[in-house]
Amino acid sequence: MKIAVGAMLCEGNSLTPVLTKFTDFDYAEGDKMLEKIAVTEMLKLRGCDIVPTIYAHALPGGAVIKSDFLRLANSIVDKLTPDLDGVWLYLHGAMCVENLGSAEEALLKMVRDKIGYDIPVSVAMDFHADNSDEIPRLANCVTGYRTAPHCDREETERRAMELLFYMIDNKILPRPQIARANVIICGDAVQTALSPMKDIMEAAAELEKLPGMLSVQVFNGQPWIDEEYTGPNFVVTHENDELLAKECAEKLAKMFYDKRHDFEFLVEALEPKEALLRADSAKESTVFVSDSGDNTTAGAAGDNAYMLNLLQNLGIKDALLAGIMDADACDACYKAKIGDTLTLTVGGSLSEKSEKATITGKLIHRGDILSYQYNNAGPSATLDCGDITVVITKNRAALCRPDIFESIDLDYKKFHVVVVKLGYLFPELAAEAERAILAFTPGASTERLQDMGLTKIRRPMFPLDDNFI
Ligand SMILES: [Zn+2]
Repeated sequence: MKIAVGAMLCEGNSLTPVLTKFTDFDYAEGDKMLEKIAVTEMLKLRGCDIVPTIYAHALPGGAVIKSDFLRLANSIVDKLTPDLDGVWLYLHGAMCVENLGSAEEALLKMVRDKIGYDIPVSVAMDFHADNSDEIPRLANCVTGYRTAPHCDREETERRAMELLFYMIDNKILPRPQIARANVIICGDAVQTALSPMKDIMEAAAELEKLPGMLSVQVFNGQPWIDEEYTGPNFVVTHENDELLAKECAEKLAKMFYDKRHDFEFLVEALEPKEALLRADSAKESTVFVSDSGDNTTAGAAGDNAYMLNLLQNLGIKDALLAGIMDADACDACYKAKIGDTLTLTVGGSLSEKSEKATITGKLIHRGDILSYQYNNAGPSATLDCGDITVVITKNRAALCRPDIFESIDLDYKKFHVVVVKLGYLFPELAAEAERAILAFTPGASTERLQDMGLTKIRRPMFPLDDNFI
């Protein structure tokens, strides 16, 4: 059995002007890419002839530069041959390409142009996939994460491979069906372990038990993509009954719509000033405050000094700003010596909408910081500015897990208020956090649909519109 495998992931955000480039991806090809996907053992156990293509994974960000996307996509497609028995792809589902739209749709079209429609293609995706209508026409099975925060990445990769094996063994080429709910709920109000999403996930799991059902997948979508297809979508794959698949998808879409008023932020969510003041007066020893509008794990630039200015203006003490991206400020720290006092302007270097701040502090640490994708995110510097300690990164970064803080010898537990550029805390950080508050800050990952300035999304759309069904 000859199977080609490829992975291309970057959660897109079309509201940020900062484009994603080839060098932003953690990239591997050949045998090295096989070490980064979770299905290699399965393929070896079945004695498959494996055709590795590429693994490319970037921190969520703006649209990918078109030529860089084509370089990635061609690296996958070039390896595909007509004698393949199947193709397995691990994609995000909300990656966008400059002047092109959905990266997944563009890639899958290129795949079909190369191999035609007689070879099964199985796709694993993120729970936040915004699938266009073309996706289920181009793939034979679409499955995805079933947890948010995500804890089932590898399981999802393996399920997509099991489904591919099933399609090959049974010589079937299913046609997945899609339905949509015209409801945009930000990811930070959607956790699969909690109602109402828990109820929807359970309903999907029940439908998946129907005979011949291959995958019943709920996708919350990613709200920061300005496209007609943005929002929750339900992709159902039955081995031969397309009508039943369509009915199940529509049932879940209706259920989601009916529960639209029941979604709420699952952590304390406040205006920025109130969030910082509440954290400052909290009895817990460490309180996280999420700068949710500049959330790098939702694709925002991560260069906005809005919260840094607010911390300074409010006179908050014992605070850690983790962190802010500013290449020039980081370079200046590398030209100085540890212990030197520096005055720097930080922020606003990528996005012109981002604020700048001036800080003066003692350089206490320099070193490379671990990335979101577990590789090297490049240089970082830590400045002790008295009341506030500031982490400056040369590249966009995400201090979303304890191991990332450890990579720069930073003990966040020593601070009372820790500002992070996240939405809800990642599970690894949430497990250690005594308390977390989400601040409704402005930016490309704003939590408020009315502030997103979306112009292409379909209408009516809750919460901009209501009671339209
Ligand atoms: Zn996601």
